[in-house]
Parts: sequence; structure tokens; C-alpha cells
Amino acid sequence: MRLVMIGAGYVGLVSGACFADFGHDVICVDKIESKIEALRNGVIPIFEPGLQKIVEDNQNAGRLQFSTDIAAAVRDADVVFIAVGTPSRRGDGHADLSYVYAAAREIALAVTGFTVIVTKSTVPVGTGDEVERIIRETNPAADVAVVSNPEFLREGAAIADFKRPDRIVIGTEDARAIEVMREVYRPLYLNEAPLLFCERRTSELIKYAANAFLAMKITFINEIADLAERVGADVQKVAKGIGLDKRIGGKFLHAGPGYGGSCFPKDTVALVKTAQDYDSPVRLIEATVAVNDTRKRAMARKIVAACGGDVRGKKVAILGLTFKPNTDDMREAPSLAIIQALQDNGAIVHAYDPEGMAAAKELLPGTTFGKDAYEIAEGADALVLVTEWDEFRALDFRRLGNLMTSAVFVDLRNVYPVREVTRHGFIYHGVGRRNSG
Ligand code: NAD
Repeated sequence: MRLVMIGAGYVGLVSGACFADFGHDVICVDKIESKIEALRNGVIPIFEPGLQKIVEDNQNAGRLQFSTDIAAAVRDADVVFIAVGTPSRRGDGHADLSYVYAAAREIALAVTGFTVIVTKSTVPVGTGDEVERIIRETNPAADVAVVSNPEFLREGAAIADFKRPDRIVIGTEDARAIEVMREVYRPLYLNEAPLLFCERRTSELIKYAANAFLAMKITFINEIADLAERVGADVQKVAKGIGLDKRIGGKFLHAGPGYGGSCFPKDTVALVKTAQDYDSPVRLIEATVAVNDTRKRAMARKIVAACGGDVRGKKVAILGLTFKPNTDDMREAPSLAIIQALQDNGAIVHAYDPEGMAAAKELLPGTTFGKDAYEIAEGADALVLVTEWDEFRALDFRRLGNLMTSAVFVDLRNVYPVREVTRHGFIYHGVGRRNSG
């Protein structure tokens, strides 16, 4: 099949490359010329494990092309995916759909023959109706079906997630579109990935409900972690104890500095806004958003407390900046608010991240960046693990202890057993467990 992916970002590029890998002919289109030029030259604009090879292989096989020309790409397509960004709209928190609607207009002007238009971007309930209206208004003769097919991949594990998804959700009641979408995903249901067909609005809501539920689960364990600290319990054992119950499940029960990233923060707020508009408030999600918002600065207060209650003029070394490991994505990363709060309190912040520093430098002007954990630890009054990259999982604490001014370790991801750190003379502060100091 001939597929077009509009938007060559984290979702569009991974999806396009994986569809090409299934044997489809794919053109990825983006507005940013430099991005397309780089991709044509084999330079991948994002860090995503395994993506480079899959793009290269499919480019060489002639199944994957890159273009800035929407009209030319769409003309011959069987299916056009919209995978552009839907960030929070400034001012009111609703999803900004201007990129989606702009893409819909451009697609409408170029389609020929029956074409399935698929919204892969995360969009509020009713957006499919509006996309369809825009297309019919722009080109009344267009023969299209507008389908919702939200994406559930996670950055850092995107290729495995795309190729072995827990489910594929397809929102359409159009018989021709159902056949086309079955064909698009045929290689996956041979892998037994369940295809869930439903109404378009149901599909749109599934995506928000899924993200809101996961955000709520993280926030739940974070609040239990705070309580565990107060009452002298260990949140990791609580998480294990509840997670073994199959009705609860052990995933997304890791206490930490609060959720961040390009999806949960904006999608939870957008769901709250949609629910308010429909006069059906989702109070659990409202509480989730509020609790998570305050958590990041609370983490900074935890670091200040670990430094004896004052960080003015003290050096704090931060390990990990991206919102999670194995991505270079800095959108809404907890590190941003934590570092800002530390600097507000007068701390001198040095930081290191394996892949996120290029983006972080733009966002954290007052921070000094180092080349590894040991360089930034030199002369530091506290070392803080914010993002659990693999290379921070086996730190040499003896060496760190010799480099630092004070042997204080704040483990915001609970990566280390307390004793492994304290036996090298460190004072350990985790999340939701008893401190050693
Ligand atoms: P992104 O910002 O990385 O990529 C979006 C791309 O679309 C950009 O390169 C931009 O230049 C391009 N674009 C915008 N308007 C365009 C137009 N009219 N024509 C051509 N290109 C255009 O965004 P992303 O992280 O890939 O997210 C895309 C969507 O997928 C969002 O709705 C997001 O919520 C959703 N989503 C993201 C993830 C994730 O992990 N990043 C996971 C699931 C769903």
C-alpha cells in the first residue's frame, strides 16, 4: 500500500519507518526543510534506539522516502496519516489543533481517488468530525474516510512498541476504511496484536483515558511514597505488594519526581478541559494534574533538605535531564522545574545527560554541563539522580565520594539499594523510603 505520514517527529518517523519495514511504500512529509534534508542524508533528527538502522534499510530498499511536498505525496496515496504535534494551547490548556487542521486542508486539496485519512496524533473527542468537515468544505468532491488511530508507542522503546503493540485501536464505521486499515496492519495481526475497531469518538477517548489512567497510577504511588516516608514504610515494597495483585498490576508503580514528557502533562490537561466543556468533570484527573504539578518543586525541597536546609552557593550535580531514559526529549522534563527551583534557592547546578544536553542547553541557560557523572560530581555538595539512564545504574561511589565535597546522594528514582550507597560513606535520600542520614 502507498502510505503518507504527515509530520516526521517522534511518532511520524517511527511509524513511517516501521510501516515501510512491513513492506508498505511510505513517504514521510514534514514542513521543516532541514529535517527532511537531514533524513534524506541518513541523519536522524531524534535519538530513538534502533531507528537509524530501520530508516537506513528501508531507504535503501526504496520503500521509505522523505519530502516537504504534501500535495505530491498525497496525490497517489491510499492512506494519509496525520502525525503532527498537538501541544497544549497557550492560555487555556486545550489541545492546539491548528497543525492538524492545517494538514487536513492541505490533504483535502491534493487527494485523488478513495483515500483514508487517519488521525494518529492525540486529538480530543470530536476532532475527527472537524477534520472531516474541513475536508468536505475544502474539496466537496474528495472521496475520503476519516479514521482515528491513536498511537500508544513510548519514546525510548518506540520501535518494539510499534511492532508489538498491546492493541491497535481503529475508530471508524466506514466499511471501505475498515478493509483498508486491516490491510495496513495485516503484518501486525499476524503477530496476534489485537485490532480493536470502534466508533471514531470512542477511539479518540480511548487514547486520553489510557494516558490519564497511567498518569493517575504514577501519581497515586507518588502520594503513597510521601506517606511511606512519613510513617516509616518502604514504597517499593508497597508497590510490589499491591502490584502482584493482577487487578492492579506492577507497572507504572515506580515512585519518582512526577511524570513529565510530551504526552502525559498535555493530555491530562486537555482531557480535563474537554470534560469541563461537556459539563462532566473528571475530578480524579484534575487532582492528578494538581498533585503532579506541585511534585517537582517538592523534589527540589527534598534536595535542599538533604543539603542541610540551604543550597545557597552550594554545588548540586544532576544526573539525567530528559523526562525518561533512552530519549533526547526534554519536553516537560521534571529536571527543568527541579533545576529552576534549586537555582531560585541559590544553588550552583552542574548537569549531565547522555542524549539530552543539546536540547537542555537551550532550556537551562544558568546550568553548567559536564561530560559525565564524575566530572560534574567534582566538588559537589550533593549528587542527584533525576533520570535513570543505564549508565547511572552502576556508579562508582568510592570514586564519587573522593571527588565530592559532601557525600550526599539523592536518588529520585530509587535505583540503588540504600546499603550499596551508604557503605561508601554516603548519606542516601530516596523517594518513599527511610533516609540513611
Ligand atoms: P513532534 O513535535 O516530534 O513531531 C511533529 C512534526 O510534525 C514536526 O516535525 C512538525 O514539523 C511536523 N508538522 C507540523 N505541521 C505540519 C504540517 N502541516 N505538515 C507537515 N509536517 C508538519 O511530535 P510527536 O511527539 O511525534 O507527536 C505527534 C503526535 O503524536 C502528538 O499528537 C502526540 O500527542 C502524539 N503522540 C506522541 C507520542 C510520543 O511519545 N511522542 C506517543 C503517542 C502519541
